[in-house]
Amino acid sequence: MSLDRTAFYIDGDWAAPATSNTIRVVSPHTEQVIATVPEGSTADIDAAVAAARRAFDEGPWPRMSPQERIDVVQNFSNLYAAKLGEMAELITLEMGSPTSFANLAQSPAPWMQIETFLGIAREFPWEERRTGALGTDVIVRREPVGVVAAIPPWNVPQFTTMSKVVPALLAGCTMVVKPAPETPLDTYLMAELLHEAGVPAGVVNIVAADREAGAHLVAHPGVDKVAFTGSTAAGRKIAAVCGEQLKRVSLELGGKSAAIVLDDADLAATMEGLKFTALMNSGQACVAQTRILASRANYGNVVDALAETVAGMQVGDPMDPATEIGPMVAQRQQERVEKYIALGQEEGARVVLGGNGMPDGLSSGWYVRPTVFADVDNRMRIAQEEIFGPVLSVIPFDDVDDAVRIANDSEYGLAGTVWTGDVEGGIDVARRVRTGTYGVNTYTMDFAAPFGGYKASGVGREFGPEGLSHYTEVKSIYPPA
Ligand code: NAD
Repeated sequence: MSLDRTAFYIDGDWAAPATSNTIRVVSPHTEQVIATVPEGSTADIDAAVAAARRAFDEGPWPRMSPQERIDVVQNFSNLYAAKLGEMAELITLEMGSPTSFANLAQSPAPWMQIETFLGIAREFPWEERRTGALGTDVIVRREPVGVVAAIPPWNVPQFTTMSKVVPALLAGCTMVVKPAPETPLDTYLMAELLHEAGVPAGVVNIVAADREAGAHLVAHPGVDKVAFTGSTAAGRKIAAVCGEQLKRVSLELGGKSAAIVLDDADLAATMEGLKFTALMNSGQACVAQTRILASRANYGNVVDALAETVAGMQVGDPMDPATEIGPMVAQRQQERVEKYIALGQEEGARVVLGGNGMPDGLSSGWYVRPTVFADVDNRMRIAQEEIFGPVLSVIPFDDVDDAVRIANDSEYGLAGTVWTGDVEGGIDVARRVRTGTYGVNTYTMDFAAPFGGYKASGVGREFGPEGLSHYTEVKSIYPPA
């Protein structure tokens, strides 16, 4: 079955593109083109924003009751639940996410987000009556923020799309979704499901496009709020435009998270945990804990255990259910990771596993060798910059205070973990590390709780009631006494 597409989803219909430009979606495993889709131009973005604007200003969606919107989103959720396998497979094909990860995070997790947001919306204080300071009533309402520009990245495309589309829908917003050019296919399936669920025309519009068209969308006067997930570099540019225009903006950006391995940790269980928290999605994860902090006393043990663990992970065809590390999304990403591996060696770090070159048994595909560096100083660039691949740095610390200091010595503040036999002590470490989320002996995102970054990792929060609030404006109405 062909995965090709020839139209955009605009105003509840399949709309012909304004130009004949196309995006070629290439398998990172075979390096073959698997589909061609139209590439959005600024004219296509304009058409999508116009449809979203009309649907917001004149359409039924923002005026429906929260319960009526919940019913439509529940339909969507039920339809989505029936497509989890197909969705995960599409994402594995387009960006090379190992099927073992895709069948956990690329479609079941987005579906779980929908269900969690539905529960939050049912309890949300859409309109409440309070007794004001003057003893008279005040009505406090949460109204939709308006037209949303939702811009996800390619690494977890549905995960980062759903965290915007679902709260925006529930709040009564309309939107333009601009998927990354690497991963347009999953969003087409999502469009079909939204359509079938009964989302009215113009409420969700989808145009896959490159960053220039994305910048046009961000600056568009018809857009009220930008919800962006991607690199910190792009986030800064977007924040500047939104600041100038006083647009609402939420940013989920990069990370360089630290896993602190304390001496009382169960080393075998820690290594099992790090396979996921450090290397999920082949290391192409914003929350990946790529700085492994080990005490000087236990340093050799941690380095050896980590090298042995990573060496045992299966690298290769992402469609193979046993694969744990797949290819990088694109050749440029493979080159970027290789540059960092070379840089780490120049900086004086010691390769204990991996290094540059293709993994054993592979001669094509955008693969890199999973690499573990020891003797890493936290000031090195490989410890400070987001590599976005399967490259881990083991950094020594003197004591717990030093470990916390090193974890915090980063431009980023997205996530982190501590591995310890003392859970209460671990929670205390969690309180001291300046990141938006933190795990003790685990790292599992809970969609009922807010997620986001401190410092250069972002502005605002997704998930939980906080994530829904970002799609509302708050209004106070003063009735007569
Ligand atoms: P990217 O910033 O290059 O692109 C992200 C998206 O933004 C793409 O759709 C791209 O086309 C678009 N874009 C880029 N520049 C833009 C601009 N100036 N205006 C409008 N749109 C623009 O990032 P990427 O390489 O696709 O994704 C990887 C990055 O995403 C990593 O830094 C990763 O940490 C981050 N990420 C963060 C989270 C999080 O929740 N914090 C989650 C996943 C990924």
